[in-house]
Order: sequence, then C-alpha cells, then structure tokens
Amino acid sequence: MTVIADPRITGYCPTGWTPLVTALIKDLAMLEGVVEINSVKNNNGVLAINTTGATDEMQLLINQCCMQTEEICQFCGMPGEVKVVTEKNYIVCQRHETQLLSRA
Ligand SMILES: [Zn+2]
Repeated sequence: MTVIADPRITGYCPTGWTPLVTALIKDLAMLEGVVEINSVKNNNGVLAINTTGATDEMQLLINQCCMQTEEICQFCGMPGEVKVVTEKNYIVCQRHETQLLSRA
C-alpha cells in the first residue's frame, strides 16, 4: 500500500520507459506492504529497478515491468529491440537507432 520513491527517480529513467515505471509504481501502491524504490536505471540495455522491502508479489510486477522494456524504445516508447551502438546496449526503435548511429 505504500511506495516510497524519490520523485526524481522517473527523471533517471530513460524517457521511453517512464510511462511503464509510472504505471508500475501505481500498481505497487495497490498492494499490501511497504516498498522503497532505490534506483531505476538502464543497466546495459535492460531496465533495472532496485528496491528494498518488495514482497514476492511486488517483485513479480517489477520483473514484468523490466521484461516489458526489452521491446520498447528507451527514448520514445515505440516498439524497439536491443541494438549495440558504440559498444553499449540500447533498446531502440528504428528511428532512434539511426539517430544513435549518426552520432556515434
Ligand atoms: Zn525511439
């Protein structure tokens, strides 16, 4: 029922994934218990959410959220896939892959 999350957390989250994380926080808030979200980040192309106090039920939701990001462009939220650009993993749509490559 309680989610303790620094409001800035969504600011650290890649923009395209922010809606997923926002929805996750809402879902977590409906469950019993107290969970603290310590960090949300792009860990080598995969969304990583670090929490304290998550119950098994919460962890399941968190894992599902992280898995969803594997197919969503981290920049715009459109369908995407893992691409390695400049030796880093990104989840990008075609448009953002082109953009990354042009900057590389
Ligand atoms: Zn994109």
